Amino acid sequence: MDGPLVHALSCRLHEILHERRVDRIDVPADRWQANVLLKHCAGQTVRRVYSHGQWLLWDFSHSVSWVFYPLQRWHWSREVPAPDDEASIRAAAAEAHQGAAPPPLSSRPGRRRLLAIALTDGSRIVLSGRPLLLIMPTQNVWRHPHLARLGPDIFDDGFSSAQWAQRLRQAPGKTIARALLDQRIAAGVGNPSKCEILFAARIHPATRVAAIPSPELRQMAEKASALLREASQVALGRSVSTARPRRVHDRAGEPCDVCAAPIMVDRCGGDGHWTWYCRACQAPRREPLLFSEAAGHG
Ligand SMILES: [Zn+2]
Repeated sequence: MDGPLVHALSCRLHEILHERRVDRIDVPADRWQANVLLKHCAGQTVRRVYSHGQWLLWDFSHSVSWVFYPLQRWHWSREVPAPDDEASIRAAAAEAHQGAAPPPLSSRPGRRRLLAIALTDGSRIVLSGRPLLLIMPTQNVWRHPHLARLGPDIFDDGFSSAQWAQRLRQAPGKTIARALLDQRIAAGVGNPSKCEILFAARIHPATRVAAIPSPELRQMAEKASALLREASQVALGRSVSTARPRRVHDRAGEPCDVCAAPIMVDRCGGDGHWTWYCRACQAPRREPLLFSEAAGHG
C-alpha cells in the first residue's frame, strides 16, 4: 500500500479513535495466536494512531502498541449501529458483561475479517485482509528490526525536501526508481507514487542518482513532497484540485497528458517493480563518459 494511502488511513483512524476507550476486541477464535495479547487491550484508551512510511501504528494508554504492515490488500471499515440496533447492542453488551461469549466474527466470502474493535458507543472498527501485526511495548517499537531501519517519514513536517535530496544523494549508484522505493532513505514512497514523482520531475526511471545534478534532485524532492501530500488529501476526500491523480501509473498505452505519446510500462527502473512512464517526457539522459570519444580514437 502506497504511503499516502496509509497516511490518510492513519489520519482518519486517529480522528475516530483518539482518546476513545476500546470496549471489546473480537478475533476469529481459530486464527490468531496473538488473540490473548490483542484482547488484553480491551478496556484501554487509544492514545494515538499514526503512520510511518507504509506502517500503521496504534498506541494504547497502557504503553502497548499495535504495529500493522499491509502485506496484501487490506480493508478497514467503520460499522455504526443503526438507531434500531442500539437497544439490541446494549442488551448484547449487558449480556457480555454477565459473562456470555460475544458473537464470533463471521467471514464474508472473499474477505477475511480478522479484527473488530468495538467502542463504547457501539460502533466497530473492522479490519479485513492479512496484514503483518506486531504487538509490543510502545518503548520497544523503534528497536524492532523492521522499524529500526526505516528512514524519516515523508509526511513528517520536520523532514525537508532538502534533507530528502541529501539522503538520496548518498546512494549514487542506485537508479532513481530504486532509491525512491528504498525505505531506509525515506519511508513512504510506494510503486504508484514512485512513477508519479518521476513523471512530475521528468526523470527517466533508470537514471543513476549520480547522474542527476543536485538542483534537479532537490526540485524532484520538492515536487515529490507536494505530490504525496496531495495524494493523501485526495484519499481523505479533502482535495480541491481537479488534476488527474494518476498521470502515468496504471495507464499503459494511453496518451501522455503532456505530449500524447503512449505511456510505457516495463522494468527499466531496476527496482523489481513495473514502472509506468512517458518515454518522450522522461527521455533517458546520456551518462557522462569517463573519457572523451576523441581520446579513445587518439
Ligand atoms: Zn509525455
